[in-house]
Parts: sequence; structure tokens; C-alpha cells
Amino acid sequence: MSIPAKIIELDIAIIGGGSSGMALATRLNGLSATVFEPKTAAERDCCWAFWAHPPQLKEFSQSIQGSWDRWRIIDHNDEIIHHSNQYRYTCLSAKKHLEHCETNLKKSTSLVRSPVENLVPKGNGGQFNANGQRYSAKTIYDSRPPTMGENSLRQHFLGWEISLKEPMENADIATLMDFRVDQSRGLHFIYVLPYSDRHLLVESTMISTHLEDKGWYRNAITGWLAEHNIQVKSQLREEYGVISMATEQPYNPEVNNIGANGGAVRLSSGYAFSTIQRQMAELAQSINAGQRNVPKPFSRLLMFMDKVFNRALNAQPDQGVSFFMATAKALNAEQFSLFMLGDAGFLEWAKVMQAMPKWPFIKSALSQIFSHD
Ligand SMILES: Cc1cc2nc3c(=O)[nH]c(=O)nc-3n(C[C@H](O)[C@H](O)[C@H](O)COP(=O)(O)OP(=O)(O)OC[C@H]3O[C@@H](n4cnc5c(N)ncnc54)[C@H](O)[C@@H]3O)c2cc1C
Repeated sequence: MSIPAKIIELDIAIIGGGSSGMALATRLNGLSATVFEPKTAAERDCCWAFWAHPPQLKEFSQSIQGSWDRWRIIDHNDEIIHHSNQYRYTCLSAKKHLEHCETNLKKSTSLVRSPVENLVPKGNGGQFNANGQRYSAKTIYDSRPPTMGENSLRQHFLGWEISLKEPMENADIATLMDFRVDQSRGLHFIYVLPYSDRHLLVESTMISTHLEDKGWYRNAITGWLAEHNIQVKSQLREEYGVISMATEQPYNPEVNNIGANGGAVRLSSGYAFSTIQRQMAELAQSINAGQRNVPKPFSRLLMFMDKVFNRALNAQPDQGVSFFMATAKALNAEQFSLFMLGDAGFLEWAKVMQAMPKWPFIKSALSQIFSHD
């Protein structure tokens, strides 16, 4: 590949215009920044769900696909329903959200629809190729997805957005986990977000170290729909995703890394959206004030607790359903929302720890302490 002679000088380069890249780019005040993103928003459409409080419902109103004040977790023995007055479990259309961010970039921020290649880091920034040009940036924030370890614990899922022939029951409740499905290949659940009584997202999700063929998840969805007498009128969209639940090496450890590439995915749950929004708001605030370092996405204590949880899950995958059911049962809707958002205080943690089987968690905590991970 020939290297262009002229080098374009930039102040801030944001590599990747996804959830984190756009959360940062839209919050920079009058500073010159360029976002490099090869794909259109439509090519990256999926549901980004999180527990939203009222100001966030307003902030993201243009891209909300569905929002519920009730959610549930079910296994063969129990059904736990949470009803919150403070938080709504909310799904954003990634396409609508990213399109909104792209059209609302400030004049000082531009978007280049191209991948970044041949990055050579230098200090806080570096040089790279994009769109047939050579760029040099004083500061780089890189959100290209990290490479996942082959045998690490992952959350992997395939979902269908479908319209229905007949109205479905319980369309006002989001089903976060329905464990009444095949558990022989790992911890498996069905996730159901009814956007209306005739329009829903239904996903088959696994937490395990091995990915399945796509047909396996599709069979699980078909089976669940048949069991609930839900007849599909048309399939509108399919989404597939793999989220690491282990600490991964960033795409390029020598630059500033943000988003999933900067470790912003909650290890015990795979949720990242709200953490990314908060972390990018903090980063933008410090950049606007003249500092360019990326704040840590999670406290050391939260990272430790999540790693202990995952160790216990890895050691006893057959106990996974009871770990999640016990967590949901121990907390009320508000406490559960805080817990999932990574904002749980002493009370919530004490309740969760009280509900867990003691010996597997003590063993996991000890092995986590001695692993130096
Ligand atoms: C299908 C799916 C569904 C998810 N659902 C949820 C959810 O419901 N709730 C939740 O909290 N979390 C969810 N997550 C986890 C997490 O919130 C998302 O992965 C989120 O998109 C992470 O944001 P990010 O900015 O780190 O990465 P991304 O949003 O993936 O952004 C990275 C960007 O880098 C771009 N890129 C790649 N290569 C290059 C290159 N060479 N040059 C320039 N750009 C490049 C990509 O096109 C992409 O747009 C989901 C993940 C997936 C995969």
C-alpha cells in the first residue's frame, strides 16, 4: 500500500463511531475532533437496552424502541416480577441513536466514513491511514472492538425482531431471562422485549465459553414461540452478538482505549451502554477542561466482585440459573436496577451476598485473590 505524501494534522481522532465514539464526539465543546467510522448506522442496528431514569428517557427519546416499568426473570420454579417507579428498562434502536448522534455533531467535529489502518502510536496520539489519506493526531481514542480470547466466558445471542399474527399476552412486561429452555449446552435463556402486543424482539442467549451454530439459537427461539402459541407474521430483522465476559487485551494497548475496548463491559452481565455513557460524559468533561486521560469505567471493588461471580459461574455452570434467580429475588426493582447499572451500594451487595450459596463464592473469592488477575 502506498503512503500518501501529505499528512493531515488533527487534534483529536476518535476511532469508531459506535456507542462510545459517538457518546464522546457529541459531548466535545468547540474542540476540533474527527470520528473515523467505516459503517453506516443502518449496518450496525441492534437493541441497546439499559435501566433508564427520567432524564435519560428525555435525552434518548428520539431513539427509544420500547420502555417498561416491569420486568421479570423466570425458571421452572419461580417467576420474579419487578415493578419500578424510578427506572424503566429501555431499549434504544442503535440505528436511530447513531443517526441522531451523527446529524447532531458540532461544527468542530467531523465524520470520515472509513476504517483506520496502519496505526503507529506516538505519545497520546499517533499516525494512521484512512480514506486514502495519512493522518497525524495529537490524541487518539480507540474504540475498535478488542479481540476475544477463544476459551473465555462469553455472552452470545441471536435475536429476531418479529411482527405477530395475533396480540400476545403480557406485552407490558420485559422478560429479561426465561430459563425454561435447554440448559444442556451452558447457561441459556430467552430474552423478550415486546415493543407492542404485535411486535417484539426475542433472543436466545447463552453464557458459556463455546459459541453455537446460528441454527441452534434459531431453533431455541422457534421452540419458545411455539410453546407460547406465538405465531410470526413476518421477521423484520435478525441480530447476532458476542460479548466477552472476561478482561480482554485492547485492540492496541499503546493508545487511549474507550468503550468495550477500554473495558467498559460489565463482566458479570454483558451490559455496557449506561457505563459507556457515564464514562464518556466524564471524559468529555475532562477534555473540555484540558485533561485527556480516560477515567476507569468501574471501581476495583466492582471488578473484583464481578470476577468472583464469573469464577463461581464457570466452576458450577449448572448453578447459574439459581445464582441469577437468587439475585433477582434478593433485591427490589430499584435495588436491582442499581445493581445492574453497577451503582449498587453496601445494602444491595449485602443482600446479594446473603442470597448466594456461601462455599462456591468463598472458594471463587479466594482463587480470585490468589490469581492476581
Ligand atoms: C449485538 C449487540 C447487542 C448489545 N446489546 C447491549 C444491550 O442491550 N445493553 C448493553 O448495555 N450493552 C449491549 N451490548 C454491549 C455494548 O453496549 C455494545 O457492544 C456497545 O456497542 C459497545 O460500544 P463501543 O463503542 O465499545 O463499540 P461499538 O459500538 O461496537 O463501536 C465500535 C465501532 O468501531 C468501528 N470500527 C471497527 N473497526 C474499525 C476501524 N478499523 N476503523 C474505524 N472504526 C472501526 C465499528 O464499525 C463500530 O461502529 C451489545 C453488544 C452487541 C454486539
